[in-house]
Amino acid sequence: MEAGRILLVGASRGLGLAMADAFIQKGWHVIGTVRDDGRTALHDVADAHPDQVTIERLDITVPEQLARLHAKLAGQALDILFVNAGIASGRADETIAEVATDEFVRVMLTNTLGVMRAVEAFEDLVRPGGVIGVMSSGQGSIANNTKGSFEVYRASKAALNQSMRSFAARRPGDPRAMVLMAPGWIRTDMGGPKATFSIEETIPQLVATLIAQQGTPGLRFIDRHGASVPW
Ligand code: NAP
Repeated sequence: MEAGRILLVGASRGLGLAMADAFIQKGWHVIGTVRDDGRTALHDVADAHPDQVTIERLDITVPEQLARLHAKLAGQALDILFVNAGIASGRADETIAEVATDEFVRVMLTNTLGVMRAVEAFEDLVRPGGVIGVMSSGQGSIANNTKGSFEVYRASKAALNQSMRSFAARRPGDPRAMVLMAPGWIRTDMGGPKATFSIEETIPQLVATLIAQQGTPGLRFIDRHGASVPW
Protein backbone atom coordinates (compact mmCIF):
# COMPACT_ATOMS: atom_id res chain seq x y z
CA MET A 1 0.00 0.00 0.00
CA GLU A 2 1.16 3.55 -0.77
CA ALA A 3 2.46 5.77 2.01
CA GLY A 4 -0.17 8.10 3.40
CA ARG A 5 -0.86 11.00 5.69
CA ILE A 6 -1.72 10.80 9.40
CA LEU A 7 -2.81 13.37 11.95
CA LEU A 8 -1.33 12.04 15.19
CA VAL A 9 -2.60 13.84 18.27
CA GLY A 10 -0.22 13.67 21.25
CA ALA A 11 3.12 12.95 19.59
CA SER A 12 5.59 14.72 21.90
CA ARG A 13 6.87 11.64 23.75
CA GLY A 14 6.09 8.04 24.70
CA LEU A 15 3.93 5.92 22.41
CA GLY A 16 2.85 8.86 20.23
CA LEU A 17 6.44 9.87 19.50
CA ALA A 18 7.36 6.26 18.69
CA MET A 19 4.31 5.99 16.41
CA ALA A 20 5.37 9.14 14.56
CA ASP A 21 8.81 7.63 14.04
CA ALA A 22 7.38 4.32 12.80
CA PHE A 23 5.03 6.02 10.31
CA ILE A 24 7.95 8.11 9.02
CA GLN A 25 10.04 4.94 8.53
CA LYS A 26 7.21 3.68 6.32
CA GLY A 27 7.34 6.84 4.21
CA TRP A 28 4.21 8.48 5.67
CA HIS A 29 3.71 12.19 6.26
CA VAL A 30 2.97 12.86 9.94
CA ILE A 31 1.15 15.91 11.22
CA GLY A 32 2.07 15.49 14.88
CA THR A 33 0.67 17.60 17.69
CA VAL A 34 2.41 18.76 20.85
CA ARG A 35 0.72 20.45 23.78
CA ASP A 36 3.14 23.19 24.79
CA ASP A 37 5.25 25.87 23.11
CA GLY A 38 8.59 24.34 24.04
CA ARG A 39 10.81 22.03 22.06
CA THR A 40 10.03 18.29 22.25
CA ALA A 41 11.59 15.08 20.97
CA LEU A 42 9.20 15.33 18.00
CA HIS A 43 11.10 18.47 16.95
CA ASP A 44 14.28 16.38 16.70
CA VAL A 45 12.42 13.87 14.52
CA ALA A 46 11.11 16.72 12.37
CA ASP A 47 14.62 18.13 11.97
CA ALA A 48 15.81 14.74 10.72
CA HIS A 49 12.83 14.32 8.33
CA PRO A 50 11.72 17.84 7.41
CA ASP A 51 9.69 16.71 4.36
CA GLN A 52 7.70 14.15 6.36
CA VAL A 53 6.77 15.94 9.58
CA THR A 54 4.59 18.94 10.34
CA ILE A 55 4.26 19.97 13.98
CA GLU A 56 1.11 21.63 15.27
CA ARG A 57 0.17 22.78 18.78
CA LEU A 58 -2.89 21.29 20.43
CA ASP A 59 -4.24 20.73 23.92
CA ILE A 60 -7.27 18.48 23.44
CA THR A 61 -8.97 19.95 26.53
CA VAL A 62 -9.16 23.42 24.95
CA PRO A 63 -12.04 23.66 22.41
CA GLU A 64 -10.67 26.88 20.84
CA GLN A 65 -7.42 25.09 20.00
CA LEU A 66 -9.34 22.22 18.36
CA ALA A 67 -11.32 24.70 16.26
CA ARG A 68 -8.19 26.66 15.31
CA LEU A 69 -6.29 23.57 14.17
CA HIS A 70 -9.30 22.24 12.27
CA ALA A 71 -9.55 25.53 10.37
CA LYS A 72 -5.82 25.38 9.60
CA LEU A 73 -6.05 21.83 8.24
CA ALA A 74 -9.25 22.43 6.22
CA GLY A 75 -9.14 20.83 2.80
CA GLN A 76 -6.44 18.31 3.68
CA ALA A 77 -7.22 14.62 3.19
CA LEU A 78 -6.06 12.26 5.92
CA ASP A 79 -5.62 8.51 5.58
CA ILE A 80 -5.52 8.11 9.36
CA LEU A 81 -6.59 10.27 12.29
CA PHE A 82 -5.20 8.85 15.53
CA VAL A 83 -5.75 10.43 18.94
CA ASN A 84 -3.09 9.04 21.24
CA ALA A 85 -3.15 11.71 23.98
CA GLY A 86 -4.04 10.47 27.43
CA ILE A 87 -3.11 10.74 31.12
CA ALA A 88 -2.83 8.35 34.05
CA SER A 89 -4.23 8.92 37.50
CA GLY A 90 -3.05 8.29 41.02
CA ARG A 91 -2.16 5.07 42.77
CA ALA A 92 -3.28 1.64 41.62
CA ASP A 93 -5.17 1.06 44.87
CA GLU A 94 -7.01 4.40 45.02
CA THR A 95 -10.72 3.66 44.68
CA ILE A 96 -13.22 5.74 42.77
CA ALA A 97 -14.72 6.80 46.11
CA GLU A 98 -11.36 8.10 47.38
CA VAL A 99 -10.25 10.12 44.39
CA ALA A 100 -10.54 13.90 44.65
CA THR A 101 -13.30 15.41 42.55
CA ASP A 102 -10.83 17.62 40.66
CA GLU A 103 -8.71 14.62 39.79
CA PHE A 104 -11.73 12.65 38.54
CA VAL A 105 -12.70 15.58 36.33
CA ARG A 106 -9.11 16.04 35.06
CA VAL A 107 -8.84 12.42 33.93
CA MET A 108 -12.29 12.25 32.35
CA LEU A 109 -11.80 15.62 30.67
CA THR A 110 -8.62 14.44 28.95
CA ASN A 111 -9.12 10.73 28.33
CA THR A 112 -12.80 10.77 27.37
CA LEU A 113 -14.12 14.23 26.53
CA GLY A 114 -10.91 15.67 25.07
CA VAL A 115 -10.23 12.61 22.94
CA MET A 116 -13.83 12.50 21.62
CA ARG A 117 -13.80 16.24 20.91
CA ALA A 118 -10.64 15.70 18.87
CA VAL A 119 -12.29 12.83 16.98
CA GLU A 120 -15.37 14.97 16.28
CA ALA A 121 -13.23 17.97 15.30
CA PHE A 122 -11.07 16.21 12.71
CA GLU A 123 -13.12 13.24 11.46
CA ASP A 124 -14.31 15.17 8.38
CA LEU A 125 -10.71 15.25 7.11
CA VAL A 126 -10.47 11.43 6.98
CA ARG A 127 -11.04 10.03 3.50
CA PRO A 128 -13.47 7.18 2.75
CA GLY A 129 -11.58 3.96 3.43
CA GLY A 130 -9.35 5.70 5.97
CA VAL A 131 -9.04 5.10 9.71
CA ILE A 132 -10.33 7.03 12.72
CA GLY A 133 -8.47 5.67 15.74
CA VAL A 134 -7.99 6.42 19.40
CA MET A 135 -5.65 5.01 22.03
CA SER A 136 -7.77 3.04 24.44
CA SER A 137 -6.33 0.47 26.84
CA GLY A 138 -6.86 -3.11 27.86
CA GLN A 139 -7.87 -1.50 31.18
CA GLY A 140 -10.87 -0.03 29.37
CA SER A 141 -12.36 -3.49 28.91
CA ILE A 142 -15.36 -3.99 31.19
CA ALA A 143 -15.50 -7.73 30.45
CA ASN A 144 -11.85 -8.28 31.44
CA ASN A 145 -11.98 -6.26 34.66
CA THR A 146 -11.88 -8.93 37.33
CA LYS A 147 -9.17 -7.36 39.50
CA GLY A 148 -10.04 -3.67 39.75
CA SER A 149 -7.14 -1.18 40.35
CA PHE A 150 -6.57 2.16 38.60
CA GLU A 151 -10.32 2.65 38.87
CA VAL A 152 -10.57 6.17 37.50
CA TYR A 153 -8.22 5.50 34.58
CA ARG A 154 -10.15 2.33 33.72
CA ALA A 155 -13.44 4.22 33.89
CA SER A 156 -12.11 6.95 31.58
CA LYS A 157 -11.03 4.42 28.93
CA ALA A 158 -14.30 2.44 29.24
CA ALA A 159 -16.18 5.72 28.76
CA LEU A 160 -14.00 6.42 25.72
CA ASN A 161 -14.88 3.02 24.27
CA GLN A 162 -18.58 3.62 24.88
CA SER A 163 -18.35 7.09 23.31
CA MET A 164 -16.69 5.68 20.19
CA ARG A 165 -19.50 3.13 19.95
CA SER A 166 -21.98 6.01 20.00
CA PHE A 167 -19.91 7.88 17.39
CA ALA A 168 -19.96 4.80 15.16
CA ALA A 169 -23.66 4.12 15.77
CA ARG A 170 -24.47 7.63 14.56
CA ARG A 171 -22.80 6.79 11.24
CA PRO A 172 -24.29 3.58 9.88
CA GLY A 173 -22.60 2.63 6.62
CA ASP A 174 -19.62 4.94 7.21
CA PRO A 175 -16.83 3.81 4.85
CA ARG A 176 -14.05 4.42 7.41
CA ALA A 177 -12.54 2.01 9.94
CA MET A 178 -12.96 3.09 13.58
CA VAL A 179 -10.39 1.66 15.94
CA LEU A 180 -9.98 1.55 19.71
CA MET A 181 -6.41 0.38 20.27
CA ALA A 182 -5.22 -1.54 23.36
CA PRO A 183 -1.44 -1.30 22.95
CA GLY A 184 -0.27 -3.52 25.84
CA TRP A 185 1.66 -2.48 28.95
CA ILE A 186 4.64 -0.56 27.59
CA ARG A 187 7.60 1.19 29.25
CA THR A 188 6.98 4.96 28.94
CA ASP A 189 6.61 7.79 31.47
CA MET A 190 3.06 6.52 31.98
CA GLY A 191 3.68 2.77 31.74
CA GLY A 192 6.68 3.00 34.11
CA PRO A 193 9.90 0.95 34.16
CA LYS A 194 8.21 -2.30 35.25
CA ALA A 195 5.93 -2.52 32.20
CA THR A 196 6.06 -5.76 30.24
CA PHE A 197 7.08 -4.47 26.83
CA SER A 198 9.48 -1.98 25.26
CA ILE A 199 8.47 0.59 22.68
CA GLU A 200 10.72 -1.13 20.13
CA GLU A 201 8.96 -4.49 20.42
CA THR A 202 5.43 -3.08 20.25
CA ILE A 203 5.04 0.12 18.27
CA PRO A 204 6.14 -1.11 14.81
CA GLN A 205 3.52 -3.88 15.12
CA LEU A 206 0.87 -1.44 16.35
CA VAL A 207 1.53 0.88 13.40
CA ALA A 208 1.43 -2.00 10.89
CA THR A 209 -1.93 -3.07 12.39
CA LEU A 210 -3.35 0.46 12.12
CA ILE A 211 -2.25 0.80 8.50
CA ALA A 212 -3.86 -2.59 7.74
CA GLN A 213 -7.25 -1.34 9.02
CA GLN A 214 -7.60 0.88 5.94
CA GLY A 215 -10.31 -0.30 3.60
CA THR A 216 -12.20 -2.34 6.22
CA PRO A 217 -15.06 -0.22 7.60
CA GLY A 218 -16.55 -0.79 11.04
CA LEU A 219 -15.76 -0.28 14.73
CA ARG A 220 -13.18 -2.52 16.37
CA PHE A 221 -11.59 -2.72 19.87
CA ILE A 222 -8.30 -4.46 19.07
CA ASP A 223 -4.81 -5.07 20.40
CA ARG A 224 -1.62 -4.21 18.53
CA HIS A 225 -1.74 -7.52 16.66
CA GLY A 226 -5.25 -6.79 15.40
CA ALA A 227 -6.93 -9.34 17.69
CA SER A 228 -10.31 -8.36 19.20
CA VAL A 229 -10.38 -7.29 22.84
CA PRO A 230 -13.60 -8.11 24.77
CA TRP A 231 -15.68 -4.98 25.35
P1 NAP B 1 2.98 9.41 28.15
O1 NAP B 1 4.37 9.00 27.92
O2 NAP B 1 2.58 9.99 29.46
O3 NAP B 1 2.54 10.43 26.96
C1 NAP B 1 1.26 10.98 26.94
C2 NAP B 1 1.11 11.83 25.71
O4 NAP B 1 -0.20 12.42 25.70
C3 NAP B 1 2.11 13.00 25.66
O5 NAP B 1 2.46 13.23 24.30
C4 NAP B 1 1.28 14.15 26.22
O6 NAP B 1 1.74 15.43 25.85
C5 NAP B 1 -0.05 13.85 25.57
N1 NAP B 1 -1.15 14.55 26.25
C6 NAP B 1 -1.58 14.39 27.51
N2 NAP B 1 -2.59 15.24 27.77
C7 NAP B 1 -2.80 15.95 26.63
C8 NAP B 1 -3.69 16.99 26.27
N3 NAP B 1 -4.57 17.51 27.13
N4 NAP B 1 -3.64 17.49 25.01
C9 NAP B 1 -2.74 17.00 24.13
N5 NAP B 1 -1.85 16.03 24.41
C10 NAP B 1 -1.88 15.51 25.66
O7 NAP B 1 1.99 8.16 27.94
P2 NAP B 1 2.09 6.90 26.93
O8 NAP B 1 2.45 5.72 27.75
O9 NAP B 1 2.87 7.27 25.74
O10 NAP B 1 0.55 6.76 26.58
C11 NAP B 1 -0.01 7.20 25.36
C12 NAP B 1 -1.44 6.70 25.28
O11 NAP B 1 -1.47 5.27 25.39
C13 NAP B 1 -2.36 7.19 26.39
O12 NAP B 1 -3.66 7.44 25.88
C14 NAP B 1 -2.39 6.03 27.37
O13 NAP B 1 -3.55 6.05 28.17
C15 NAP B 1 -2.35 4.87 26.42
N6 NAP B 1 -1.86 3.61 27.00
C16 NAP B 1 -0.58 3.50 27.45
C17 NAP B 1 -0.14 2.28 27.96
C18 NAP B 1 1.28 2.07 28.46
O14 NAP B 1 1.55 0.99 29.01
N7 NAP B 1 2.20 3.01 28.27
C19 NAP B 1 -1.02 1.18 28.02
C20 NAP B 1 -2.33 1.34 27.55
C21 NAP B 1 -2.73 2.55 27.03
P3 NAP B 1 2.78 16.27 26.82
O15 NAP B 1 4.16 15.80 26.45
O16 NAP B 1 2.52 17.69 26.47
O17 NAP B 1 2.42 15.95 28.25
